[in-house]
Amino acid sequence: MMPYTSPVPYNEKRIHAAAVYCSDGRVGEHFDDFLQNGLCLPRYDRVALPGGPARLAEFEKPSIEKQAVLAELKFLVDAHELNRVILIQHENCAFYKHHLNLAGDALRPRQADDLNIAARTITEAIGLKQIEAYHAKPTPEGMTFTPVELD
Ligand SMILES: [Zn+2]
Repeated sequence: MMPYTSPVPYNEKRIHAAAVYCSDGRVGEHFDDFLQNGLCLPRYDRVALPGGPARLAEFEKPSIEKQAVLAELKFLVDAHELNRVILIQHENCAFYKHHLNLAGDALRPRQADDLNIAARTITEAIGLKQIEAYHAKPTPEGMTFTPVELD
């Protein structure tokens, strides 16, 4: 294969924000659009892994240790001088279906609880306080992001 050149201009200026979300490729472009255009955070740092913020909450059988995810986030906070973290959960997340057998209406309260646990965990472990949470749901218009209130 020949080298491929992306026409997107490179801007080395950091935005000092990261988003933690699920790696589900069906929602990746929606997450990008919301963060870049909805929240005006171009070039935000991405922490994408199955389940997203669920990995910073408590699970009976986490496949990656919570401490390891926290360590990666702390690295970004230190190295990229992050001061803001956005947590996003999404409807029909396979991580919850697979690990907790939760889907449909049963999923959302659990995800809201997990967003709160994840936010507390980040604040306690890293000291970062500017944390926001959102829930993404497919709609006929595309994907709607609704703020989730944190304690
Ligand atoms: Zn997911």
